[in-house]
Amino acid sequence: MTIAETSTLAATELVDELQAWLEENWDPDLTVGEWWKRLGTAGWAAPMLPADSYGRGLSRGDAMTVSATIARFGALGAPMGMSIGLASPTIATHGTREQIDRLIPPAVCGEVAFCQLFSEPGAGSDLAGLSTRAVQDGEIWHVNGQKVWTSGGQFADMGMLLARTNPDAPKHRGITWFAIDMHQPEIDIRPLREMTGNAVFNEVFLTDATVPDANRIGDVNNGWAAANTTLFHERSGMASRGGAGEGGMGIGARMARSGTVVGDLDKRAGDFVAARSARTSRRPRDTNASPAQSQIDLARQFGRLEDPHVRQQIAQAHILGTLSRLNAERHKAVRATGGDIPGIPNFGKLLTAHILRLNRDLGLEILGPRGMLHAYDQDGREELTTQPGGAAAMAATAQALGAQALPIFGGTDQIQRNIIGERILGLPKEPGDLAQVPFNELPKNG
Ligand SMILES: Cc1cc2nc3c(=O)[nH]c(=O)nc-3n(C[C@H](O)[C@H](O)[C@H](O)COP(=O)(O)OP(=O)(O)OC[C@H]3O[C@@H](n4cnc5c(N)ncnc54)[C@H](O)[C@@H]3O)c2cc1C
Repeated sequence: MTIAETSTLAATELVDELQAWLEENWDPDLTVGEWWKRLGTAGWAAPMLPADSYGRGLSRGDAMTVSATIARFGALGAPMGMSIGLASPTIATHGTREQIDRLIPPAVCGEVAFCQLFSEPGAGSDLAGLSTRAVQDGEIWHVNGQKVWTSGGQFADMGMLLARTNPDAPKHRGITWFAIDMHQPEIDIRPLREMTGNAVFNEVFLTDATVPDANRIGDVNNGWAAANTTLFHERSGMASRGGAGEGGMGIGARMARSGTVVGDLDKRAGDFVAARSARTSRRPRDTNASPAQSQIDLARQFGRLEDPHVRQQIAQAHILGTLSRLNAERHKAVRATGGDIPGIPNFGKLLTAHILRLNRDLGLEILGPRGMLHAYDQDGREELTTQPGGAAAMAATAQALGAQALPIFGGTDQIQRNIIGERILGLPKEPGDLAQVPFNELPKNG
């Protein structure tokens, strides 16, 4: 069964089966690594993967039911991140039997963490224009070039690498997808500090780095097909997270990290669940709350609830947040019956980006001058907690600084609009299409 041909089981049947498995297998005294191994080899860590590739061939909706059931049971959820969400489905779709059996189990069991080495300084939206070169020498490929924006690169064991393997072919036809070992001195990873104060992503320099041909996923020069599988799963995941809220995403696992660099594999699994329960019991979730509830609370706290402009913006945030949730539910319902609504992931990402910007502006308007203060370290955070607005104001400034990320990653707003225009509305493509010109002959900056 392929990933596209997923089955949708009756929810109760699925929950019953998983519940019985959890009763037999969950033990809080296992290490995180031991627990994830059980979960992964039973197909519950990545249930959307095909059954013959360490999954269960479930639909995205059923996979969310699995995460929610594990969380409700009180067990630690599956490892989060790109190993399960992006690398495994790409390898399951394009890899050989040997690659599936060698590379997927450590990924779904959280033993290795993958990063995504796609974007380059000159190739982001135009990803097919990438210029990192891979040259074959027998069983080994030598890789030279630079990647950027590599989220989690400093914590990764493996990288999903796109490299140019035939510069004489048109740009989409000379790329190959590799699973490269990040633990080699020829790969230099330099974290980039963001305005949020975090260093989520990195520059990655590859200088005669090597990757065995055995780790080439798919045919030489056919990497664009594999890349599209990776990007499809990235965008679908974003769209479903946009509407799923916390409940569906295996929340317990959020705090347990995978991989050998910062992974929590040797720690006691039950401690992560206990930590989560303690957090949520302090902050009960009101399922009837408005999507603009935190803005309403902030406005009340800062005495701005009667301000007509603030009220209008809060109403906007409530309406758009509600529409976003309803759209996600509508899409989920249609997909559960085997159908689809073309363009919904693109519309959903655009709407989420719009809501993030609206909340950014609204939060800063409510905070006034307080919105100019942001803490960049633990001391600063402790100091700001004691200032007017406390933790709620800190959350609002953090949201404002982070709001720029989603409109860029996974395809910028403009690219989403291009996709909707060309593929959903059937509008003509942009003039000057260079898709058939050999990569070597493409016009370059400078
Ligand atoms: C938080 C974050 C995490 C990320 N993580 C990763 C990661 O782990 N791995 C990875 O490989 N990449 C990652 N990225 C990179 C991301 O995929 C790129 O930033 C994105 O594809 C845009 O590319 P760019 O930054 O080169 O901008 P450009 O492509 O140079 O775009 C610049 C501007 O031009 C506009 N533009 C470009 N082309 C068109 C067009 N044809 N029509 C209209 N407008 C256009 C864009 O919308 C944008 O406004 C991450 C980015 C962010 C923000």
